[in-house]
Amino acid sequence: MEKGCLFCQISHGETSTELLFENDTLVVFKDIHPAAPVHLLIVPKQHIRSINDLQDADRPILAEMLLVARDMAAQSGVATSGYRLFVNVERGGGQVIFHLHLHLIGGWK
Ligand code: 5GP
Ligand code: ZN
Repeated sequence: MEKGCLFCQISHGETSTELLFENDTLVVFKDIHPAAPVHLLIVPKQHIRSINDLQDADRPILAEMLLVARDMAAQSGVATSGYRLFVNVERGGGQVIFHLHLHLIGGWK
């Protein structure tokens, strides 16, 4: 847990944010300002600032993030229609919350 980090707090269940999925590695919840009909955030419990801060040992976390994204896309009904997965990296890449997270967006008509 990183002091004052919003996604550390959310991923450890310390806020009222509803968790759509949780396992030992990560949590999934809805983005508060959805950019699409479906907009989920896949967030590791471990505090990693950004992609730049990943260690080789974090490989299983990344694999888990993608596999859970696959499952959440199916559960949200966008797997067949299609969706986007993206990660913003540092300020120039649009990152606002400095705790690694994967965006899943989809559900357009
Ligand atoms: P970033 O730009 O860092 O990749 O994305 C951060 C995302 O977190 C934004 O899409 C923003 O809407 C979302 N967000 C920021 N604060 C909160 C919050 O308190 N709750 C939820 N559910 N999402 C948040
Ligand atoms: Zn954090």
